[in-house]
Amino acid sequence: MDQNKAIYLDYAASAPLDKRVLREMMPYFEENFGNPASIHSYGQRAEAAIESARERVATTFRVTPQEVVFTSGGTESDNLAIRGAAFSKREITGANRILISPVEHHAVLETAQQLSKHFGFIVEFLSVDEFGRVDPEEVDAGIKPDTAIVSVIYANNEIGTINPIREIAAICREKGVLFHTDAVQAAAHLTINLNETPVDLLSIGAHKFYGPKGIGSLIARKGAKLVPVITGGAQEFSLRAGTSNVPYIVGLAEALKLTSENREPNSLRMRALRDRLIEGVLESIPRAKLTGHPVERLPNHASFVFEGADANLLLVMLDMAGFACSSGSACKVGSPKPSEILKAIGLSSNWAMGSLRVTLGVDTTLEIVEKFLKALPPLVEQARSLKA
Ligand SMILES: *Cc1c(COP(=O)(O)O)cnc(C)c1O
Repeated sequence: MDQNKAIYLDYAASAPLDKRVLREMMPYFEENFGNPASIHSYGQRAEAAIESARERVATTFRVTPQEVVFTSGGTESDNLAIRGAAFSKREITGANRILISPVEHHAVLETAQQLSKHFGFIVEFLSVDEFGRVDPEEVDAGIKPDTAIVSVIYANNEIGTINPIREIAAICREKGVLFHTDAVQAAAHLTINLNETPVDLLSIGAHKFYGPKGIGSLIARKGAKLVPVITGGAQEFSLRAGTSNVPYIVGLAEALKLTSENREPNSLRMRALRDRLIEGVLESIPRAKLTGHPVERLPNHASFVFEGADANLLLVMLDMAGFACSSGSACKVGSPKPSEILKAIGLSSNWAMGSLRVTLGVDTTLEIVEKFLKALPPLVEQARSLKA
């Protein structure tokens, strides 16, 4: 099968750039190339583009433009939120605990662990249920007088589960603890209104919603004081130094606008395809389980485990059959270890090693889903029998 014709079912890893977004970006590579910090007209045009993008992002999340910080992506936003808030809060109040869920993206988890290993913070973990959901009451019980920041992922990249973020945020606000949520997956599919949801810090990344890679934003509400992670010039309210990536910032804002405008119809359509896919897989494949929540999950997200199958082998066979999917975790060939997230939801290694994530996008059709459903069962059987 021609690699270029492989059917793409890995939108949670990255979505292709929308052509309309690229068109909006192009003038800022070409004639409007100026440094937004420059006084002259070239600089002014670049500066105006950034401020217009900032206002559009602010409007989407119902915050003020001063609360939108552009970063190099979801990972950097998570780093700035966790590290920046932890340092700042400790300086002001002495608080040195970080409370996170066990199903965070590595950008949050590894940042928290570095703060523990090298900077004297104490990292504590919430528990999750069998679907990977955090119970708001657990957050209430887990916050201590010296907890600096709480972080709970909005919607999980690996298993698609959506957390009760509004309730969790309300508890943190009431207790005076900063609350961060990694909304990198959620922003592509859910309406997020920070006027109603008292989140202090929220991370997004453009390439998950058909924008360019390497650009993101941290929404930092007014009360959330941060120590910058990247120091230098006064860009981004002195929270993120470095010459602004003007075309990419313009691209992020345009992609977010298009995503928000088409959210309802896209979600409805994808949810129907997703449900057909889940039903078809569970019907045709023995010893298969859906991972993540059956209802409270991203509309484009289906994830499974197949007992006794080798996930990497299955991905290779799917690729040869013309389907680009994922195991859901960053599990590398050669060093197979079960995903922390699948362990956290209670799966034994014999199940967790056989994970498959299928994420749909705007180009996915019912025909594609049916084709996939036909191809998958014999490949799972092979991935079981060929396993070392
Ligand atoms: C993709 C992703 C990230 C990382 O974002 P980048 O923009 O790729 O750095 C962080 N968190 C979640 C949940 C993601 O899905």
